[in-house]
Amino acid sequence: MSIPAEPEAPLAPGLYLIATPIGNLGDITLRALDVLRRVDRIACEDTRQTQKLLNHFEITTPTVSCHQHNEHQRATELIVALQAGGRIAVVSDAGMPGISDPGSQLAAQAIAAGVAVIPIPGANAALSALVASGLPADEFHFIGFLPEKAGARRTRLEELAAEIQHNNAARTLVFYEAPHRILETLSDLESVFGPALRVVLARELTKIHEEFLRGTVADIRCDLAARDRIRGEMTLLVHAQPAQSGAESSSATHERISDRVARLQTEAGIDEKEALKRIARDLGQSKSEVYRELQRERARRR
Ligand code: SAM
Repeated sequence: MSIPAEPEAPLAPGLYLIATPIGNLGDITLRALDVLRRVDRIACEDTRQTQKLLNHFEITTPTVSCHQHNEHQRATELIVALQAGGRIAVVSDAGMPGISDPGSQLAAQAIAAGVAVIPIPGANAALSALVASGLPADEFHFIGFLPEKAGARRTRLEELAAEIQHNNAARTLVFYEAPHRILETLSDLESVFGPALRVVLARELTKIHEEFLRGTVADIRCDLAARDRIRGEMTLLVHAQPAQSGAESSSATHERISDRVARLQTEAGIDEKEALKRIARDLGQSKSEVYRELQRERARRR
């Protein structure tokens, strides 16, 4: 470990990507505070959010906004200042900039312009959840947020299942998820990977109500569904395994909606609409989601 011998040595010019706490202000690093104090400007995802952090640590460095909608244009302005020998920090609202947050585009443009890019590491929700999850952490796949739309989300999960099947290797998958979508996502995970899928839900990491839920996807869904309110920031991890049977994907080991509809029509003598209603109830999904899946299966068979 090397400790800078001269704390007051001038700060080298360049773009500093600085991690900020994901809940507990004590997780800011000494180096992050030092650099935040000494840069010319701090490019923030949300200047109001960062100002709270800066006020807490009595840092008076000027801020400028740099978010998803202006990152490209803002980068052009900041690069000019950096090329003139400036020192600029980039922070997101929480955690590492560039990880499901703005920052990576600016870093890429700075590198292309020959400017030094310096990481100042610190808090990150995905890695904090992973190391405490108890799931294998030697190889993992960080996905971030799944698509919001039900069909696209389901398709993305099927792609991941197919990839794991293709590589024939188990993998820990790490997702960021919002509380209002967590039940739907768990439901989709259950239908793609099966009810025995091992899941860890890391909630409110580093905060007072930090919580880890560990169990099968079916258990965790029941636990959350029984709560009055589902809230807090969440990181979801699953240990996805290839299917044993040699089927083309792990989702294929579970009965397809179309097969299930056909079976119910024959066995229970009901029409397709009623069969979809029953399947939706069994899977804990909406009728429209199950219908969309049926349409996707039919399209794949064409
Ligand atoms: N850049 C951040 C990082 O390095 O972790 C992630 C930013 S992303 C926009 C925010 C998402 O990260 C949240 O919706 C949640 O899924 C996850 N997250 C952030 N803070 C968390 C916390 N304290 N506990 C659990 N998950 C958290």
